[in-house]
Amino acid sequence: MKALAVFPASREVRLIEQPEPVIAGPTEVKLRILEAGICGTDREITSFQYGTPPLNSPHLVIGHEALGEVIDVGIGVTGLARGDLAVLTVRRPCPHDTCAPCRKGRQDFCITGDFTERGIKGAHGFMTEFVVDDERYIVKVPKELREVAVLLEPLTVGEKAAEQARFLTQRLPGDLKDDPSQLNAVVLGAGPIGLLGAMKLVNGGFKTWVYSLDKADSPNVKIVSAIGARFVSSAEHPPADLAKIIGNISLVYEATGAAKISLDVLSVLSVNGVFIFTGVPGGRAPIEVDAEQIMRNLVLKNQVLCGTVNAGRASFEEGVQDLGSFMQRFPAAVRALITARMTLDDARDAVLSRGGIKSVIKVA
Ligand SMILES: [Zn+2]
Ligand SMILES: [Zn+2]
Repeated sequence: MKALAVFPASREVRLIEQPEPVIAGPTEVKLRILEAGICGTDREITSFQYGTPPLNSPHLVIGHEALGEVIDVGIGVTGLARGDLAVLTVRRPCPHDTCAPCRKGRQDFCITGDFTERGIKGAHGFMTEFVVDDERYIVKVPKELREVAVLLEPLTVGEKAAEQARFLTQRLPGDLKDDPSQLNAVVLGAGPIGLLGAMKLVNGGFKTWVYSLDKADSPNVKIVSAIGARFVSSAEHPPADLAKIIGNISLVYEATGAAKISLDVLSVLSVNGVFIFTGVPGGRAPIEVDAEQIMRNLVLKNQVLCGTVNAGRASFEEGVQDLGSFMQRFPAAVRALITARMTLDDARDAVLSRGGIKSVIKVA
């Protein structure tokens, strides 16, 4: 079967032939991959900044955002059947008995760092024709979501952020944790992760704002308006203006990976505010920030800064519910997130090029 792989030692990215995987255990499931999404992580892997092949393999098959159809199941599989649509989670647990998160199925909180991630770290990914995995890493998707379910993995970034924010707001008394309609939430960045996060916030009842560099007439900003969120241009308004435009900012969902602008927005976070980071900065030159002011605000305003990586199975399940709800409320906006569909033969060019919001490889 065909697969798109990177060879880090020789710095090559190419389509390869791989043996088709077979079911080897009773709880394993075989999927025919229907679609696989491309994201910034894939672009980092194919530019050799990131990505680790499995042990004893010179190459890594990339792809970690996939929708598949179940074509075979092991005899012990109970939750999936042939013909079901399903998405795969990404991170697999480390082997250590001492890692409580991994032993509890929350490898997104792994403490040893010895986890693997399909298509990213130590395990082949999903930009290929067939995949086999254990049923506990596979989440069923209703047939009605076929055309957009490839967006589930990027949505889980927002789902886990929401899980963290819910937990962090439990510390607050009364209305502040009960009535999101009185709270302003700001999304930093209008890429797929930001826009899906904005949909989650709108759907959750927050007054939602998206702050990004995009032009007001860009397709990304059209999606912001279509879902009932409001746009503020970071090209026109510096972070210091944000609180004047918006009012109290109770929650920030960062989806840019840009440290400077994010920390500048932190300076206008409200009393009791929660700021969730999801982006990974590129490691450019050090930036200057007013650490005194950041620390003073964190203390005097009871603020919380929280980072989140990857997502657990519950975030995928909640994502399935939310994506269904988004498709009821603003189907055209959800569809508009996918701006290109290419074949596996064109996957290399698709990953190496840029543009659009979300490009998807149609495998089957
Ligand atoms: Zn991704
Ligand atoms: Zn672990």
